[in-house]
Amino acid sequence: MAFELPALAYATDALEPHIDKMTMEIHHGKHHQAYVDNVNKALAGTEGENHKIEDLMKSISKYPMAVRNNGGGHFNHTLYWSVMSPNGGGAPSGDLAKAIDAAFGSFDEFKKKFAEAGMTRFGSGWSWLSVSSDGKLQVSSTPNQDNPLMDIAEVKGTPILGMDVWEHAYYLKYQNKRADYVAAFMNVVNWNAVADRFAKAK
Ligand code: MN
Repeated sequence: MAFELPALAYATDALEPHIDKMTMEIHHGKHHQAYVDNVNKALAGTEGENHKIEDLMKSISKYPMAVRNNGGGHFNHTLYWSVMSPNGGGAPSGDLAKAIDAAFGSFDEFKKKFAEAGMTRFGSGWSWLSVSSDGKLQVSSTPNQDNPLMDIAEVKGTPILGMDVWEHAYYLKYQNKRADYVAAFMNVVNWNAVADRFAKAK
């Protein structure tokens, strides 16, 4: 079964002014589509074709680099679109809020750490909030299209929030000002979607 580009749950201009329409169109329609096409090409006729994307990630060390880069790209972007919303921003509530306070001291401290992970990632990569195998929240960053689900990740876990810090995610609107994009991203985080992922990951 070939992977497919998931539809966005909102219009490409719905995240304005934080994330601009043209960036969304190119990022979803061109970049993510290319990851989907290229992972399908890399897996065609191999046993990897039969696996779910999550299972590929968990045993990614067994696969060629094209699967790691493009399969990772497909998994990461699918998560990224799902944790943003035009009604996003604000702060989490309930169990997730409690777990964030327990792990980082406060929501503000978490935001600082999450932003810092994105800011200090040299070149292209991602900032993550993930759940470790013993149920704890952790912040990390990965290079390229790696993610915490991969068996090669330095910090392993189930990602529940991911922020793309590749230049293609922000350059048209923010140019070299990654910090401005990182701040803007927090205004569109769909905390209900993150909380749902947290509940499933625990
Ligand atoms: Mn991207």
